[in-house]
Formats: sequence, structure tokens, C-alpha cells
Amino acid sequence: MLQVQKASQRAVLRRSRHAAAVHVGRWNPSRGLATPSEPYDAIVIGAGPGGYVAAIKAAQLGLKTACIEKRDALGGTCLNVGCIPSKAMLNNSHMYHQTQHDIKRRGIDVSGVSLNLPQMLKAKEDAVYGLTRGVETLFKMNKVDWIKGTASFVSPTRLSVQLNEGGETEVEAKNIIIATGSDVAPFPGGGIEIDEKQIVSSTGALSLQKVPEKMVIIGGGIIGLEMGSVWSRLGAQVTVVEFLSGIGGAGIDEEIAKQFQKILAKQGIKFMLNTKVLSAEKKDGKVYVSTEGAKGGKEETLDADVVLVSVGRVPVTKNLGLEKIGVEVDPRGRIVIDDQYNTSVQGVKCIGDVTFGPMLAHKAEEEGIAAVEYIKTGHGHVNYHAIPSVVYTHPEVAWVGKTEQELKAAGVQYKIGKFPFTANSRAKTNLDTEGQVKFITEKETDRILGVHIIGPNAGEMIGEATLALEYGASAEDVARTTHAHPTLSEAFKEAAMAAYQKAIHF
Ligand code: FAD
Ligand code: NAD
Repeated sequence: MLQVQKASQRAVLRRSRHAAAVHVGRWNPSRGLATPSEPYDAIVIGAGPGGYVAAIKAAQLGLKTACIEKRDALGGTCLNVGCIPSKAMLNNSHMYHQTQHDIKRRGIDVSGVSLNLPQMLKAKEDAVYGLTRGVETLFKMNKVDWIKGTASFVSPTRLSVQLNEGGETEVEAKNIIIATGSDVAPFPGGGIEIDEKQIVSSTGALSLQKVPEKMVIIGGGIIGLEMGSVWSRLGAQVTVVEFLSGIGGAGIDEEIAKQFQKILAKQGIKFMLNTKVLSAEKKDGKVYVSTEGAKGGKEETLDADVVLVSVGRVPVTKNLGLEKIGVEVDPRGRIVIDDQYNTSVQGVKCIGDVTFGPMLAHKAEEEGIAAVEYIKTGHGHVNYHAIPSVVYTHPEVAWVGKTEQELKAAGVQYKIGKFPFTANSRAKTNLDTEGQVKFITEKETDRILGVHIIGPNAGEMIGEATLALEYGASAEDVARTTHAHPTLSEAFKEAAMAAYQKAIHF
């Protein structure tokens, strides 16, 4: 007992000593606290996919670089509580579901299939651990200093860091890149408190210790559909309540969204569209979710064991000291930038979820590289017309470029070419034929304007569409490119043929 007290007293003393010692200059990771020395060339705040990629690129381009990250692991939302753990759960829940419901018809008889949820969660954690430690290794290899703490601006070139281990330090750089990312949006208007047990955000939904009998999902965007798929496959009765008339969030083609909804409904997910959630009340171990029609009208109360709040994400700027140095923020809380990632304060750039554009890891990464290239060379490149989106359900949904509804609204004359996976030999041999590839091209020139895929491996196939869009290809360019047989990508080629002339196999 005495020893415990002494240890804790020593820790307090150590912390207060650190607090008194504020150094300016270069962080010395081997010695812990900063030692006064020359400033960095670049400091990145936040080590998500935007920040850690920017930091590595900066170091590769010869800039003396530090990255300040407050989490205990690098990789940000994406690696710790986003893309990576959700894809681990999606892949393994899909395998479980297939083993239970699909492999018999393939001539594989199994018995005694059961869910080992703790092991599935561990497999997810292992993936996260391996990848976040991988980023740490990349930092070491590229000589990026990881300063473990929370940064806030003292001046446009100087940051104060509350160190995770206690105490404070100050670091300085000519170039500072804000990459503080996003966090779960609270339920609009308050009233639904996330406790990460019964009422969860995506973070809690990635770690449920038990399969809920009934799960209500507020918001039919990407998170709602991905996490809904996971828990539905593992046995939960899932109901998605969506305010809008369609699912999939912003940017999805309306025709694809309708087909997507039908397929998910067939898998057992229930949808309540045009419906607004008003409140959620915990009572006797259940959560009661009150809803009404989006335009008023029909009221209904749903009971659930777990409720997922997935109504979007918000930029993280709190306590960054932006007001102190005059960084402009828009009414939605996003840091305002110009086309070279400059904020309103010279020397301070910003990338990723905390600024404009889709909240996607690959978008943040591209911006990280471009922002650093602007610093070093004065040039950078991100093509915002060619940023793919993927929903990792089964089948996957992926798209890049314009949707039909966007082109209609803009009055652009376009052509459509479609090819269903039911007519694709590989999809047939794989007994996995749901979905289609849809090309949208400019009527006059045949230039590809958008590609929308729902089907097996759509997320891999969209890479080809993105490349085609990036290089300004026409549908004929793709149609005349040899695609290996038998592959799912032949459906991609055939949809291009259909847009340009006519498909062969349909
Ligand atoms: P973040 O990844 O949010 O990283 C910001 C980092 O900054 C955090 O680690 C935070 O701790 C740190 N930080 C913040 N403030 C400070 C400070 N003051 N000092 C020090 N550090 C600070 N996107 C995809 O493209 N594909 C997917 O499959 C996908 N799946 C997702 C699944 C889920 C469940 C969620 C929630 C998101 C998913 N996303 C996906 C979105 C993706 O995670 C984000 O777009 C991406 O992480 C944004 O990267 P970022 O670098 O801008 O910010
Ligand atoms: P989202 O914006 O995609 O979807 C939120 C949905 O909630 C919208 O459709 C909205 O109409 C609905 N909604 C809002 N308030 C509501 C209410 N009161 N009642 C009913 N419905 C309501 O947000 P998200 O799904 O939380 O995802 C956040 C971000 O994370 C997205 O920007 C997405 O890009 C990113 N993300 C990407 C991936 C991926 O790339 N695979 C996966 C997960 C998350």
C-alpha cells in the first residue's frame, strides 16, 4: 500500500516538474522532453491517413518533420476505429454468414458452425495493432519524430503540446499542417446520449460484446449500412431509420441506391425511409426509439437492445487555438482553405476530414501528399472529380465521378451503358451474380463522366474506372482494352461497350 502511494506521489511530482519545464525547439524522442534546438521544417498535427502520409512525404522530400498525435497509436480514425476495424468485421462476418447460408449449394457440407465473437473481435484488434505499429515503423524509417500529445497554436509557427506522459513542451516550424480529422456527430438537437454500450457510435458498434437481438440504426449512410450488415449477418434484427428517401449517403447514384436497398432488404435488413428519429429513451434494459415521418405524420416507437447513431461526422478543431492565430472556420466547423491547402494564416495548411470534401481516408492521403509538395516545390495535384467511394457490404457498392441525378440537374447530355453480373461468366462461376456496372458518358464525345458499380469486388474494380477518369478516357478506350477472361472486370469492359456501342454478352 505504502509502495503504491509512493509511486503515485512520484508520478504527480514528475508531472508537475514536466509542467514547469516548457521548452521550445526540436522534440528529442530519445530523451523524452524537447531540448532547445533548431525548429522543424514541417510539423503535422494529427496522425490519421492525412497526417501520417503528409509527415512521411515531408520527410522523404528532405524536410525535418514531426507529427503530433494524442492517441496512443498512429493511424487516426481510419486505422484505430474506422476503415480498418470495420473492414475486418465486415470480412469475417461475411465469411461466417456465407458458411452458414451459402456454402452448402457449393458442395461443401459443414456442421457445428458457431460464432466465436471474442475471437472475431480479437482478429479485428490484431489487424488494427499490426497496421498502427506498421505506421510507427514507417515513421522511424523515414525519421519522422512522433510527439505524443495534444497540440494547440501559440503563434502561426509555434505549437504548445500537452504531453501524454505529463507536462508540456513547445515546438516550432515554418510550416504547420492541421490534420486533426473528424469525430462522431452528436444526434442533432441533442436528446440522444451516446454511452457506447446501448446507444453507440461506430466506435462502440465495432466492439459490441454480444450480438444484439434487435438493433436500430439511426442514419442509412455508409456507416449505418456497413455496421448494419455486420450485426445483421451475425444474427441481429436490424432496422435502419433514414431521414431521406434513399440510402447510401451523399454521392451515390439513385438507381444504384434503390438496387442496393432491395439487395440488403433481401438479406434481412429492414428500412424505414423518409423517417426522422426524434429521441431515444433507455428503460428496463431496452432502448425505445421514437420516430415520425420526415415531413411529420406517422409516429412509431421501436424497441432495441442497441441503437447505433450514425448521422455523420464533424471536424475536430476544439482547443486547437485557431482563434488565437486567426484561422478561419466555416459555419459547419470546417477549416477554410484555398486550392493549395493554405488556411487564412500564412504557413498553416490543412488537409483531410477537418476541411472541405468527402470524409475519406484516400482523399486525406492525397491531400497530405499534395500539401507537402506545395510546401517543397510549389506544385501539387488532387483531382477532386476522380475520388472513388466504396461501401464494403456484400455486394460492394463503388462509384467515381458524376451521378445521373447530378448530370440531369446540370443539364448535361449523357449516355448510359450497363452490364449485369448475371451475364458475367466469372460472377456466374462464383455463384455471385447480384449487381451491375453502369457507365455514364458525355453524349457528344463519349468521355467517361461517371462509373457506378454494385457487385462483387466493386471496390477493386472502381480503381480502373478512376484511372480512366483521371486520364480523360472515353468508353471506347475502355471497350477496346483487353480484359482477362474470365474475370469480373469483363463486366466493366462490357458496360463500356454498351455505352459506346453494344455489349456482346447481354
Ligand atoms: P483522422 O483519421 O480523424 O485523424 C486525425 C488524428 O488527429 C486523430 O488520430 C486524432 O487523435 C488526432 N488529433 C486531433 N486533434 C489533435 C490535437 N490537437 N493534437 C494531436 N492530435 C490530434 N474512409 C475510407 O476511405 N474508407 C473506409 O472504409 C472508411 N471506413 C470508415 C469506417 C468508420 C467506422 C469511420 C468512422 C470512418 C471511416 N472512414 C473510411 C473515414 C476515414 O476514417 C476518415 O476519412 C479518415 O480517417 C480521415 O483522415 P484524417 O487524417 O483527416 O483524420
Ligand atoms: P453519412 O453522412 O454518410 O450518413 C448519415 C445519414 O444519416 C444521412 O443519410 C442522413 O440523412 C441520416 N440522418 C441524419 N439525421 C437523421 C435522423 N434524425 N433520423 C434519421 N436519419 C438521419 O454519415 P455516416 O454514415 O455517419 O458516415 C460519416 C462519414 O464517414 C461519411 O462521410 C463517410 O464518407 C465516412 N465513412 C466512409 C466509409 C467508406 O468509405 N466505406 C465507411 C464509413 C464511414
